[in-house]
Amino acid sequence: MMERYVSAKDKSTLAQKIAQDLADQGEILHPATAHGKKIATSFWGYAWCRAIEQWQDYESRLPAGRSLLRNNTVIDLVIEPGLIKAKVVHKELFELRIFIDEPDEERLTAVRDRCTGKITSLLDLLQGNLTEDILTVLGDPDNGLFPEYGQIRASCNCIDDACLCAHAAAALYGVGAMLDEEPALLFKLRGIDMESFFDTGTTADSLAADVDFSSQDLSEMFGIHLD
Ligand SMILES: [Zn+2]
Repeated sequence: MMERYVSAKDKSTLAQKIAQDLADQGEILHPATAHGKKIATSFWGYAWCRAIEQWQDYESRLPAGRSLLRNNTVIDLVIEPGLIKAKVVHKELFELRIFIDEPDEERLTAVRDRCTGKITSLLDLLQGNLTEDILTVLGDPDNGLFPEYGQIRASCNCIDDACLCAHAAAALYGVGAMLDEEPALLFKLRGIDMESFFDTGTTADSLAADVDFSSQDLSEMFGIHLD
C-alpha cells in the first residue's frame, strides 16, 4: 500500500500540536533540534553522530531518523545515566527508551591512560578544545567514550520490530544535537564523573552556562560528511 505523502511542514505541525497538548497537560518537554544539515556542529555532537553511523545493522533506519529529527518531531528527549527517553511524533506519538550498557572498564582505563595529564580544563574538554591527538582518542567510535553497537537496546511502542526503529534513530540523532548545547550530557549518559575521571582540578559547576560549543572544520578533522 502506498503511504500517503506527508510534507515536512505537516509533520512538524502535527508534532508541535501534540507537544502543545502535552504541555497543556503539565508535561515539561525537552525537544531536540537538528543544527543544520549536519545535525550537530560541536566536537561532541558531531562525533556522537559519526559513532552511531558506524553501526551498520542500523544503517537502514538512520536516514529516516535524521529526517524525523530535522522535522522537529523529537518533542522530548531526556538523558539519564545509561538511558535515553524520548517522545517522537511520526503520524502519531511514540514513546521509547534506549538502554545503554555501562562503558567497558578496560576501554575506559585505556582512554584515561592516554589522556592523563593532557586535559587540564573541563571547559576545554567540553568545548573539544584539545589537541587532535586527544580528540581522536576520545571520539574514536571503536575505542573512545561512545557506546558500541552491542551495548544498546531500544524499546519503542511502534510496530517496527527492527532492533532499532526510525524513532530510536531519531532519538539517537537528537542526542547528537543536544550534545551541541550540553556536551556534559555525554558523560552523564555514560555514567562518567568528568572531574574524577580526567582529574582536571576544576569542577563542572564552575563552568559558564552560556559557553559556545560549536566547532569549525570538524568534517575536515573526521574526513567525512554526515550527509
Ligand atoms: Zn519506534
